[in-house]
Amino acid sequence: MESYFLDSSFIAIALILGLLVGSFLNVVILRLPKIMYSSWRRECEEFLEENKNNPDTQEEEKFGLAFPNSHCPKCKAPIKAWQNIPVLSYLLLKGKCGSCKVSIPLRYPIIELISGVLTAWAVWYFSFSYEAGLAIIFSWCLLSLTFIDADHQLLPDSITFPLLWLGLLANSFGLFTDLKSAVYGAVFGYLSLWSVYWLFKLLTKKEGMGHGDFKLLAALGAWMGAKMLLPIIVMSAFVGAVLGIAMILIYGRDKAKPIPFGPYLAIAGWICFYWGEAILAWYWQLSGVNQI
Ligand SMILES: [Zn+2]
Repeated sequence: MESYFLDSSFIAIALILGLLVGSFLNVVILRLPKIMYSSWRRECEEFLEENKNNPDTQEEEKFGLAFPNSHCPKCKAPIKAWQNIPVLSYLLLKGKCGSCKVSIPLRYPIIELISGVLTAWAVWYFSFSYEAGLAIIFSWCLLSLTFIDADHQLLPDSITFPLLWLGLLANSFGLFTDLKSAVYGAVFGYLSLWSVYWLFKLLTKKEGMGHGDFKLLAALGAWMGAKMLLPIIVMSAFVGAVLGIAMILIYGRDKAKPIPFGPYLAIAGWICFYWGEAILAWYWQLSGVNQI
């Protein structure tokens, strides 16, 4: 009974932590791609030696993850502390900016809510442990990647690589799978999509996916081991079909824009992280292999 109480308090704390971090993830999702664009532009300009007091570059250098403080994109009014409470502020402000009443996208509280639920779920699943802490970081990374890729067709290296290294590190202690399987998962995760990419490019002269997709699958392989790569790919096709149909139902066939592969991969990765073993067991049972 006492441990039940302890567990529920950890889950409640995790929920609140997840909501708060969700509010930061909104900033990451919004600003990280802009930071990447401006740094690419700067690199290109330096490369072309055209960096002659370009006002654009100087403007953009003042832009980071932590500054400027959050403000309304329309009237530039700074967001006060009480307006920064995850989900609750959105409800209190009735979804509008406190100063100019421009509507705040519903997406912000939704991302905060998803972050809260994913964080609470990790603690419920693993209880208070190293695994839970790692699963939380894993979930936050996948959540950010999902929305950044959906918005910009980008999977930033600054998220996929640390995720990959952290997966290998965690499994050097055998937390989610053994180290050998994690290394194979990373290598074959990368190479499998890399081969598909080049085959597709050779056959059609088009680029079917980005390099970020290889890195993301490598990271997922590092966390879950090589045997989970195929279930992740199959699951991402399934997630793609479900989301595709949902998009058409919500926006209509004409307005539904295609989603890049990254979000499917990230969502499938999250599902397989918790239910992959169960899905594999169910599959083997269904195919009757275990009867041989
Ligand atoms: Zn405003």
